[in-house]
Amino acid sequence: MATIKVQDLRKEFVTDTSTVVAIENVSFEVGGHEFVSVVGPSGCGKSTLLNILSGIESATRGTVDITEGDRKAKLGYVFQSARLLPWRSVIDNLLFVQSSRGPQVRARCERYLDMVQLSHTAKQYPGQLSGGMQQRVGIARAFSIEPDLLLMDEPFSHLDAITARSLRRELHVMWQETGKTVLFVTHDVSEAVELSTRIIMLAKGGRLVADLPVELPFPRD
Ligand code: ADP
Ligand code: ADP
Repeated sequence: MATIKVQDLRKEFVTDTSTVVAIENVSFEVGGHEFVSVVGPSGCGKSTLLNILSGIESATRGTVDITEGDRKAKLGYVFQSARLLPWRSVIDNLLFVQSSRGPQVRARCERYLDMVQLSHTAKQYPGQLSGGMQQRVGIARAFSIEPDLLLMDEPFSHLDAITARSLRRELHVMWQETGKTVLFVTHDVSEAVELSTRIIMLAKGGRLVADLPVELPFPRD
């Protein structure tokens, strides 16, 4: 379980004609087995925040520390599309992101594929799977590297409502069973309420306007 410390974060994008403030003076801390959703309207800085947390973008001001005990935390990512390698089989898509090989690593990948109910597709290629199944593989891949923190950017936004709902349910179970910290970006407040233990709300101009605990348990069958 990772600890995230974000302090006085600011991000400006400077172009020839203007300066856009994407993140304005944002501070928060996340610790332990939390499922944190970052919500807000389009353009409020959600993706920018995630990109700074993952190190893709640098901050204009402020600090970000993501740690696991006294070391840097290991991060896993899930994007809007699964970004699978089409010329590799499903199981190979999980294996190639691992830092080591061997029977134990393979068994671990197979276990995560099983968690998203796709064991039977291990030898198939991404092009043979539906969009929802591909996204399931992307989620299994992110969990399979056993990251301390999972960063997710609107992972269900391209899926139909029924598929998205069943993937939310699976993700919630995986979050519970693996004890990971999840930071989940979405523009969909009801999705955030359904999944999260906590909601951080950004508003236009990248300001943090609310940071709320959520007590509603996800409905279980
Ligand atoms: P969200 O993910 O909430 O839709 P973004 O983080 O993508 O918001 O964008 C926040 C603001 O920063 C927007 O006004 C957007 O236009 C601007 N922005 C994002 N990336 C860039 C960039 N590379 N150059 C200039 N402006 C950017
Ligand atoms: P590229 O540099 O073209 O993005 P990479 O080899 O870095 O290629 O990764 C290919 C794909 O594998 C990425 O698009 C990403 O979806 C996935 N990937 C890489 N590392 C991870 C990781 N730690 N967790 C989850 N997915 C990953």
